[in-house]
Amino acid sequence: MEQAEAKAMEVIRQDAFDAAAFLDELASYPSGENIRSCMQCGVCTASCPLSSKMTETPRKIMEMIKTGMRNEVLASDTMWYCASCYACTVRCPQGISMAEVMYALRTIAMKTARNLSTSFYQSFSDTVRRYGRMHESDLMIRFALRTNPLSLLKMGPLGVRMLMKGKMNLMPPSAIRGAKEIARLYDKVAEMEGGA
Ligand code: SF4
Ligand code: SF4
Repeated sequence: MEQAEAKAMEVIRQDAFDAAAFLDELASYPSGENIRSCMQCGVCTASCPLSSKMTETPRKIMEMIKTGMRNEVLASDTMWYCASCYACTVRCPQGISMAEVMYALRTIAMKTARNLSTSFYQSFSDTVRRYGRMHESDLMIRFALRTNPLSLLKMGPLGVRMLMKGKMNLMPPSAIRGAKEIARLYDKVAEMEGGA
């Protein structure tokens, strides 16, 4: 019995430690300092035009953050649906910038989580870095290689139909003005984040 209680206490201590660590991590991002003051009123969810599409609403995400559910939060699609309209931010009675929390979650997820959302946005980012603009075929190939290379075979017939109708182009797009500056911007961000 004593052993079971000690084990339960250890789990509670670990959960509290995880929650504090996740809150500290988010608080270190811009506008994250008052994230701990969330009182779970739900105004952010009521103000959000996209909450019905999200797996977890903004209020729920705050609850999960405060209880240290880091992996579950980073696997959620909530931050990827956020349109940065700031309706939640201007109405939060505690002055919490939920929109900035969503940015921070996307940044952390891109660095540490591997799922369909992060794979898609990483592929999008790589395509724009390479061409300075969107190139749909390149994006889809990168995304498929990251997630399920065999899906390229499945997409083949659709790709051929799109090519024949001129809806897709396999040729790289012509260089746009400013492409080099965009690549330099990527390098600068990587440098600021301590990356390559
Ligand atoms: S509106 Fe602010 S205080 Fe209320 S649940 Fe959302 S983040 Fe928390
Ligand atoms: S900023 Fe994002 S989370 Fe906030 S209301 Fe707009 S869409 Fe919803």
